[in-house]
Amino acid sequence: MKKPVVLFEESCVKCAICTEEAPEVFVFVEKIGPQVKEGVDIASHSEKIKKVAQFCPMECIKYHL
Ligand code: SF4
Repeated sequence: MKKPVVLFEESCVKCAICTEEAPEVFVFVEKIGPQVKEGVDIASHSEKIKKVAQFCPMECIKYHL
């Protein structure tokens, strides 16, 4: 089984919608953009991640959950 993973593609415009919608999973890092918070159990937030990915205006949140 593959490890759950979330990626932000280069088309990210750093609008911070994803980090505002899911602050328990994502953090916005200045000059870098959204990141998965350190130590977060991605699998336990899978539904939230899928939902937030739909809000992304660039459709650049990709995941394997
Ligand atoms: S919502 Fe999409 S475009 Fe906006 S910061 Fe998050 S990943 Fe980037």
